[in-house]
Amino acid sequence: MSNPVRMCIVCRGRFLKSQLICLQYKEEKLIKFSGVGRSFYVCRDCVDNKVDNNKIVDCIIKTCKIDKGLKENLKQSLKEIFVYG
Ligand SMILES: [Zn+2]
Repeated sequence: MSNPVRMCIVCRGRFLKSQLICLQYKEEKLIKFSGVGRSFYVCRDCVDNKVDNNKIVDCIIKTCKIDKGLKENLKQSLKEIFVYG
């Protein structure tokens, strides 16, 4: 049985893939990973309580090399994913 481990881009902790949320940046929006293209992982802890959205978005900007001017867009997308997703 395989238990793939991936790194959370925010806290850099390593977790089982099943415990992480897989996201992707596509067409200037953050979305849940669609199965195609590049993706990255954020852990439940970072999303649920530990880290504020500003820091999460900063990490995503760095990881995906996104223009900092899109930060507000990303924050909005992030909120939509975790509130309605
Ligand atoms: Zn984390």
